[in-house]
Amino acid sequence: MDRREFDVETFPGKSRDRREFDVEAFPGKSMDCREIQCRSILTRTSGYLKPVCSHSLNPYLGCGFGISSCGEGCYVRFNRWITRGREWGSFAEVKMNAARVYLDTAASEAKWARFARGAFAIFLASSTDPWQPAETRYRVTRQILQAMRDCPPDTLILQTHTDKVLDDLSLIETLSGICELRVHISIEGDRERLPGLPPPPCTLDRRLTALETLASRNIFAVACLSPLYPLQNADAFFYRLAAIGTRAVVIDHFIEGDGTRDGSRTGQTRLPEAMARVCPESVKLEYRDRVIGIARHYLPVGISADGFAGRYRPVFPEPSPVLNTVKGFLAGR
Ligand code: SF4
Repeated sequence: MDRREFDVETFPGKSRDRREFDVEAFPGKSMDCREIQCRSILTRTSGYLKPVCSHSLNPYLGCGFGISSCGEGCYVRFNRWITRGREWGSFAEVKMNAARVYLDTAASEAKWARFARGAFAIFLASSTDPWQPAETRYRVTRQILQAMRDCPPDTLILQTHTDKVLDDLSLIETLSGICELRVHISIEGDRERLPGLPPPPCTLDRRLTALETLASRNIFAVACLSPLYPLQNADAFFYRLAAIGTRAVVIDHFIEGDGTRDGSRTGQTRLPEAMARVCPESVKLEYRDRVIGIARHYLPVGISADGFAGRYRPVFPEPSPVLNTVKGFLAGR
């Protein structure tokens, strides 16, 4: 087994102590990266993901984005089987043979899935980011997508926090022509940061540009507000998402969305406090419902697991009562 350390370029200078994490400084974050061989790569889903897809597929164990804002509320950080005592965001195990194992097992898993679940639907990825920093070096996700070109699932959901997904744009475009494919880009809201939390893995503008680029290639691109952050101007945000070609939004509050009914898992993190500092109402489920009511003037809306599964509530027939104000606001920026 080869073991290496390399810098996470997105975070040049992260302090070893998460609490002292400083955006401007980040001096010298490195992460432990190990090459491993996996015995299986397609995991039959249960729990939250069961109504979403038949399988999850994780090219890596661990996530280099764990030290960013999304890592703060990331439910995987609570999975002791994965972390085994390691700091979330400090490690990634690279499944070097993932594409080969996929090709060896896809046919039998597809047979099972079509019989037991109705379709062979893969969520890539549920407990890591397929385009995390290690992907630039190892390209395990790319190899898996290439394998899928030869042996495609019925449905493929690509979930990421970064515009690095565009590194594989032509491959994704090809797969989009041979299976039902959606690219989910996590964009928690219209703020770059929340107070007291580290920066995101990728800027808001870059993620919006990624959505626009995907949409321009006729790829089904979805913005996932997961977990939903307090919004500055919800109408303007959803109008902009629709204008760049986003096909739908998924709205997922940490309450009901973090694997516990009351959001108590996220309650152990700094996220609720950071949200409440900006907008106290945003930590309640009623806030999510209000945002859904606004979003549906602009885009189809999926709520939590239903949204990840591609089940959307349709756009309201009538335009938003503040549409002209929104257009004026955006024109004046
Ligand atoms: S990118 Fe996804 S898996 Fe990685 S830390 Fe963020 S939320 Fe967790």
